[in-house]
Amino acid sequence: MTIPRPQPSILAMEPYIGGQSTIDGVEGAIKLSSNESPLGAGPKAREAFLQAADQLNLYPDGAAQRLHDAIAARYGLDPDRIVCGNGSDDLLSLLGLAYLDVGSEAIYSEHGFLFYKLVAQANGAVPVSVPETDLKADVDAIMAAVSAKTRIVFIANPNNPTGTFLTIEEVKRLRDGLRSDILLVLDGAYAEYVHRDDYSAGIELVTNSENVVMTRTFSKIYGLASLRLGWCYCPVSVADALNRIRGPFNVNGAAQAAGVASLADTAHEEKAIAHNDHWRDWLFEEITKLGLKVTPSIANFLLIHFDAESPKSAPQADRFLQKNGLILRRLEAYGLPHCLRLTVGLEQANRAVIAALTEFTGD
Ligand SMILES: *Cc1c(COP(=O)(O)O)cnc(C)c1O
Repeated sequence: MTIPRPQPSILAMEPYIGGQSTIDGVEGAIKLSSNESPLGAGPKAREAFLQAADQLNLYPDGAAQRLHDAIAARYGLDPDRIVCGNGSDDLLSLLGLAYLDVGSEAIYSEHGFLFYKLVAQANGAVPVSVPETDLKADVDAIMAAVSAKTRIVFIANPNNPTGTFLTIEEVKRLRDGLRSDILLVLDGAYAEYVHRDDYSAGIELVTNSENVVMTRTFSKIYGLASLRLGWCYCPVSVADALNRIRGPFNVNGAAQAAGVASLADTAHEEKAIAHNDHWRDWLFEEITKLGLKVTPSIANFLLIHFDAESPKSAPQADRFLQKNGLILRRLEAYGLPHCLRLTVGLEQANRAVIAALTEFTGD
């Protein structure tokens, strides 16, 4: 008997596994494994979410017009070139569906966000992983990896899980080096945390190019990961393609309302940024003092390196931290088995991490 079979590349996929959220036998474990906001959603977003309960019976606005207008006003964008999604993952999937086909190629960097590989495989495309230099995307290596079959280059900027980034000059050089029919997707999931003169999420590049898309999310800085809300800014032709294939109601009403409210709550956003600046730098210093290498990060997480050989390896550190109720992210799936990724948490969590790592690294 034959059974229905998905296309072969789908059977080759290893499903995405999110950050561990509980520890067997431990009550009240602290989750620092998914780069979520330790401050949670802001008061305005919570209130909008609660009010949305009154309209659960109604379909949401399929055009998400208020949300488009709020994003456009905030960043000075053309609302018609914005597409919203059920998380930015939804938008990455739609870009893959629209621009990849069987046998085509999608490029991402060696330790780039894992979902890009899955998007390629889901569409029968070949995921092409390009080596990084010092844990950073390598523009020349990416350009050298382009073939006649390349359709998309995915770059998380800053990248998860390394926390490294490409300057806007480097991103421009990459765009200029790509054929005009290759889509450059700039995933700015952590863009709101960055304030450096040499960084840009790429809005101007999208405005002035026919082949650059920037994706953003409400999951990180705005603390709305559970609601699933992302957006992208695209050339008109890309927005047109995405609007044809997206679900007609792909952004739920509560997410739309909470998204609009989040953009208006600049006080909460500033608080989240200030908290992250302070504690990320504090964690970097304290962990470095313990003799562990930490990759400098401009996002809301840190990549901590452990000794591969000694008994003080990353898996041992993970076990020790979990015994202390702390969940960090293991990175075997990212090709970084000797590292753990730590999300910046609340003060008490950050201090608990340092206390546990002090004990772990001591004799
Ligand atoms: C967290 C994250 C996202 C966000 O995904 P959502 O679907 O919007 O929650 C996207 N890209 C990267 C690199 C991330 O780390």
